[in-house]
Amino acid sequence: MPAHPAGPRHEDIVHAAAIGEVPHDLNALSPAVWPLTAERVDGVLSVAGVPATDAVAEFGSPLFMLDEKHFRAAARSYAEAYAGADVYYAAKAFLTTRVARWAVEEGLRIDVCTLGEMEVALRAGVPGESLLFHGNNKSVAELRRALEVGVGRIVIDSVTEIERLADLARALGVRPKVLVRVTVGVEAHTHEFIATAHEDQKFGLALAGGVAFAAAQTVASEPAMELIGLHSHIGSQIFDAAGFEVAAHRMAGLVADLVNSGIAVAELNLGGGMGIAYTDDEDPPQVADMAKQLTAIVTRECELAGVPVPRLAVEPGRAIVGSAGITVYEVGTVKAVDLGGRSRLYVSVDGGMSDNIRTALYGADYTVVLANRESVADPVVARVVGKHCESGDVVVRDAWLPGDVRAGDLLAVAATGAYCRSMASNYNYLPRPAVVSAASGECQVMLRRETLDDLLAADAGVD
Ligand SMILES: *Cc1c(COP(=O)(O)O)cnc(C)c1O
Repeated sequence: MPAHPAGPRHEDIVHAAAIGEVPHDLNALSPAVWPLTAERVDGVLSVAGVPATDAVAEFGSPLFMLDEKHFRAAARSYAEAYAGADVYYAAKAFLTTRVARWAVEEGLRIDVCTLGEMEVALRAGVPGESLLFHGNNKSVAELRRALEVGVGRIVIDSVTEIERLADLARALGVRPKVLVRVTVGVEAHTHEFIATAHEDQKFGLALAGGVAFAAAQTVASEPAMELIGLHSHIGSQIFDAAGFEVAAHRMAGLVADLVNSGIAVAELNLGGGMGIAYTDDEDPPQVADMAKQLTAIVTRECELAGVPVPRLAVEPGRAIVGSAGITVYEVGTVKAVDLGGRSRLYVSVDGGMSDNIRTALYGADYTVVLANRESVADPVVARVVGKHCESGDVVVRDAWLPGDVRAGDLLAVAATGAYCRSMASNYNYLPRPAVVSAASGECQVMLRRETLDDLLAADAGVD
């Protein structure tokens, strides 16, 4: 008798649980994770009628493809669901001048948090009035520019900033509308949230201990600015309204305290963080349902607190651009690694953590398919890795891919529209990929692919 009964090895079990059942059809494109216009045409993945193979031939690989129709539809669904409220597109998810125009054309405003993001929006022709300016350490130069262009809202993040902004506003003879950012002790991340009395983080002013109340009072008594409202942002990848409910409840309490001391609060901005599906296992709520719930929660909490209901604002980023974008990579090497009786196929692509840091940084999950052809080969357990000099350089940790995947194939990763290109780096001197928008059978460059000359341009030692 063997010491251990025959059966699945421990790591096999862990592994199977991590990547789920063998999929029925490796070639299928689940609408939950792929862009609206994604389909296979003659086996080739295409976006808005543009085959990934053609796009890569023209613009190089890796390549980000952004589905314009998807972006616009998502933006419009937010504008419609939050009619009577304000929706700010969170620029940090991904911003170019064209993206800024799409957002504004579909009825959104834009939330920026640096001079750079502000400049992109302004160069796109977005009026300063449509911008909201965030940041825990806005420089004097950034604040001055914001005042000069008449930014619609400035979110005060510290007591230091109140005086800094007031001095600038007086010097320029303007009176900005400001919100006070409040940390309410609710932290939401990947479908769960925790509520605590205190919050140990760099953003905002604490509700606890009356810090936020005192800051709002200071702002309200400062003639150089107008206190328009309060702001809170509780996290990312939020899948239900429970976290917002706790935040809204606490914010309503603060609104009541302020109103009772003679300070009106016209706006309540509940921030962003609305979740999307990266894999078929995730099931985010409908935009309209979440909007109804948030509106009802704020209304109920303010009515219970006996104060006028402020105008609601939200700041989705990922929920608008995340699923609109995909990354197309070319496979360079394929290596079967023996794990003792079973093997894992390491599929190396021509990008990696420099164009998608989320897997390494957050352990994010993604969906990947063969893009240049369909395959009926048996599924194998694969790991899609990049070309960087780090063993943590993983794009998709656990995936099923057809066993005949080989060098020269193209792989497409879904839902990379948010926080991939915007967080991209030049690690290992890799030029950052191009981003193209796809619509009606055509691609247009949004961001061209960087060249080695771009990278060397900053090197003072080059002749
Ligand atoms: C990051 C951020 C957002 C957007 O978050 P998403 O998860 O992309 O919706 C909105 N508001 C603030 C203050 C943020 O920091």
